Amino acid sequence: MKNPCILVIEDEAAIRKLLFITLQSSGYNCLLAATGSEGKIMAAAQQPDLVLLDLGLPDGDGQALLRGLREWYAKPVIVVSARSSEHDIVTALDNGANDYLVKPFRTGELLARIRSALRQAVNEQNTPVKIFGNLTVDLTTRTVKKNGEAVKLTSTEYALLALFVKNEGRVLTHAFILREVWGPGYVEHTEYPRVFVGQLRKKIEDDPNRPKLILTESGVGYRFSEG
Ligand code: CA
Repeated sequence: MKNPCILVIEDEAAIRKLLFITLQSSGYNCLLAATGSEGKIMAAAQQPDLVLLDLGLPDGDGQALLRGLREWYAKPVIVVSARSSEHDIVTALDNGANDYLVKPFRTGELLARIRSALRQAVNEQNTPVKIFGNLTVDLTTRTVKKNGEAVKLTSTEYALLALFVKNEGRVLTHAFILREVWGPGYVEHTEYPRVFVGQLRKKIEDDPNRPKLILTESGVGYRFSEG
């Protein structure tokens, strides 16, 4: 298999160099862009398997670039930014980022997020039966089993679980979850995800108080762990 190609859009030379060395030594091909416009051209010309995107760029805001990219680029985008406010993170995810990493980041963490995003991109075309430890979710028959025993879910609980499973490893914002499960008219009902995640955890987690499947991303939303 060909090594995945990762495009880095980052204006700081030192970080660009660090990312280049880290990615190359981990077996990825790496393309570098120092500005947003350069990045956009390279993404279109080279069709990389994943984009690492900085938000503070000299020729415009990374959030706008992300929205533009998402009109035609469907592969994973991970935002790597010094901006750490919930607002910036939620905006980036709602603009279509698969994940968000705050600088300074640990390279081990970055590589884990990249592996997860690439695996997720492959999984989308794969089998409809998903296995997470002792939990099995069959997306065609809409059946859920824990330790081989059927788990009874309400239709809303199932819709929520299916959304998590289909977006494994990805941070889903409260607004995204509300829109997808309840519909566009419910985006203000921010208590719904919390209530239904609580119910789901009781049914699928080994210990609902120390969840290993549905993880809370504080102030942002939830991430379904790939286990
Ligand atoms: Ca920057």
